Amino acid sequence: MSLYRDEGVVLRTQKLGEADRIVTILARRTGKIRAVAKGVRRTTSRFGARLEPFTHVDLQLHTGRTLDVVTQAETIRPYGEVLAADYPRYTAGSAMLETADRLTHGEKEPALRQFLLLVGGLRTLAERGHEARLVLDAYFLRSLAVAGYAPALDACAKCQAPAIRAFAIVAGGVVCGACRPAGAAVPAGETIGLMTALLRGDWATADASESRHRSECSGLVAAYLQWHLEHGIRSLRHVEREPV
Ligand SMILES: [Zn+2]
Repeated sequence: MSLYRDEGVVLRTQKLGEADRIVTILARRTGKIRAVAKGVRRTTSRFGARLEPFTHVDLQLHTGRTLDVVTQAETIRPYGEVLAADYPRYTAGSAMLETADRLTHGEKEPALRQFLLLVGGLRTLAERGHEARLVLDAYFLRSLAVAGYAPALDACAKCQAPAIRAFAIVAGGVVCGACRPAGAAVPAGETIGLMTALLRGDWATADASESRHRSECSGLVAAYLQWHLEHGIRSLRHVEREPV
C-alpha cells in the first residue's frame, strides 16, 4: 500500500458500520477524495473533530483497493467552529460545501482552482468582513466560472449586442431585447453591476450595494446555479448511459 499526504476541506461525512465514517474531502493536489476514517465515531477517536465538515485539514492517507484510508489528520483551520456560532454564515458555508461537491464530478481529478475558491470563500465568511449573502453569491459565480459556466454580463449572451434588456438563465446570462426569451427576468442595472463586481472580487462596489439589488442578485444567481447543476448532472447521466 502507498502513503500520500495532502491538505483539503471536509465536504461531508457518512456513517460506515458501527464506528467508522466515509469522509469526502476536496484536496489541493488530489482533487476529490472519498476515504475511510476508522473509529472516528468513538469518543476516544484520535481524530477527534478534525474530520468534521468545514475543517481545513492536513492529511496522510494510504491508498486502498476501493476507498483510501485516513491515517493522520491535523487541523489547519477549524472553520466549522467559527461558522456554527452564526446561522447565516453556517448556512452559506454549507451551500459552499455542497456546491464544491457537485461541481467537482470525478474523484482524484485535480481541481486546484475549486479548492482555492472554497478555502478563500470559507475564510472570507469566517472573517465576517462582508455580508454572508454577498460572500456566497461571489463564491457561486466564481465556482461556476471555473466550471465553465460564467454568465455573460457585459453583452448579449446570444448575439453580443451591447444593449442589455434581461437576464435569461437558459441563454447563459444577459440578453438584448431582440434575443430575450419570454419570461426572462428584467433585473435592475445595479443588480447586473453587483453580479459583475462579485465575479471580479470588487468588494468596494459589492459592499456599497443596496439591499434590494442584493436580493435580486441572490435570486438570479441561485436560479442560474440550480439550472447548471441540474443540467450538468443530467448530461453526466446521459454520458454514463452511452455504450462504451
Ligand atoms: Zn441579442
